[in-house]
Amino acid sequence: MDTNPSQLPNKIDLAIIGAGPHALTLVTHLLQKRQTMRGRFVVFDPSGKWMSQWQQQFAALEILHLRSPAVHHPDPNPFALRKFAESRPHELFPPYDLPGTQLFEDLCQDVIYRWDLQNQVVKAEVTRIQPLHPRFRLWLDDGSSIIARRVVVATGGGKLQIPDWVNQIATKYPQDRLCHSHKVDLRKLQLAGENILIVGGGLTSGHLAIGALARGAKVHLILRRQLQEKLFDAEPGWLGPKYLKGFFAESDYQKRWQMIQAARNGGSMTPAIAMQLRRAVRTGNLRIDEHCQISEAQWFENHWLVSCHDGSEYKCSRIWLSTGSKFDVTDESLLTEIADTYPIAIANGLPILDTYLRWPGCELFIMGALAALQVGPTARNLSGARMASEKIVPAIVKSSIAHNLRIPTRY
Ligand SMILES: Cc1cc2nc3c(=O)[nH]c(=O)nc-3n(C[C@H](O)[C@H](O)[C@H](O)COP(=O)(O)OP(=O)(O)OC[C@H]3O[C@@H](n4cnc5c(N)ncnc54)[C@H](O)[C@@H]3O)c2cc1C
Repeated sequence: MDTNPSQLPNKIDLAIIGAGPHALTLVTHLLQKRQTMRGRFVVFDPSGKWMSQWQQQFAALEILHLRSPAVHHPDPNPFALRKFAESRPHELFPPYDLPGTQLFEDLCQDVIYRWDLQNQVVKAEVTRIQPLHPRFRLWLDDGSSIIARRVVVATGGGKLQIPDWVNQIATKYPQDRLCHSHKVDLRKLQLAGENILIVGGGLTSGHLAIGALARGAKVHLILRRQLQEKLFDAEPGWLGPKYLKGFFAESDYQKRWQMIQAARNGGSMTPAIAMQLRRAVRTGNLRIDEHCQISEAQWFENHWLVSCHDGSEYKCSRIWLSTGSKFDVTDESLLTEIADTYPIAIANGLPILDTYLRWPGCELFIMGALAALQVGPTARNLSGARMASEKIVPAIVKSSIAHNLRIPTRY
């Protein structure tokens, strides 16, 4: 059950924007540390529910199981998922007990229930954060507003990356014939007999290709680089001191940014998905072109003609851009006034937050990919949600940390 904005008080101690896995992880860690925070925070999300974006993405791409192992989830007890799965062992997938989609979602519902968070999400989009120094006024999409002493931004997102050639398409085309993977919902599509071109080499491309093949389409996968096979987005060494020690010892934030890029190294597919794709190549239903970049696309009544830099040309009925998202704090309209009021250093689009993931100068905290300079390459993942919570919670529960800001001096 969601909460209506009209039931809100005028003022609140803590406002959390977004109700995805990051916000849920933060709330459980916060309540574990300080039960008295209950009733002192609100969570905003346009869906009015926890985990709606996550559920939508997994359902739309028909993802069978997570990429991350069973220790990563929103409960502070690392064994919570394993315990929950005791009666459902067949829903943990090899090679490292990757939780099945339904198992993970059920665990999250169990977490929400156990921590009594069912009625914590206010159904509203935050449209503006107005700095009142030292507080904030949050404006909601119904025109109402609320004053918050502290704010956590856990909106996930980023800006969809759209290749240049898309903006240069001169011909008119039906919107559903070219779209970002974020907008594709396999459940709603009939694709038998179609030729689908998928751009990008990340796991999402793999899921889309398998979904389209299962619906009787022929698929053509175009990758800028070689297909990379990796179990995880970043090596497990990034979850602990093995790599993070060196990362945090690096005081040059440009170098930290480079370490993040090197660790994630663009998109990659799991060996299991790559194997399914290779099988489809052998049956002739899938073609994979590596080191290939599109230069131009034209729509002709009922098909695309796509040209690549190497001079090759392809015909297809749909194009899906599985080109990911870009994370740049200067693109975040919600943070515009914060950035104007409290100017901070930025390294390659990432804000240089303090070690509590706080925006220097005010009590606003950021979780997710934008916090990567202080969390590391897995900042956007479930493991990053836990690491971020461990950093933010002390600053929220200990008043001595408030305003005792550690403002980095470089960049
Ligand atoms: C297909 C897919 C599979 C993934 N699989 C894994 C995996 O297996 N393991 C792993 O560790 N990571 C995985 N990730 C990466 C990451 O864990 C997820 O993207 C995760 O959903 C990020 O959580 P989040 O809370 O930051 O964002 P989200 O889940 O996107 O939640 C953010 C919420 O904020 C809301 N919001 C946005 N703007 C506003 C606003 N202005 N006001 C109010 N609410 C707002 C959104 O509506 C949304 O509900 C996956 C990502 C994708 C896309």
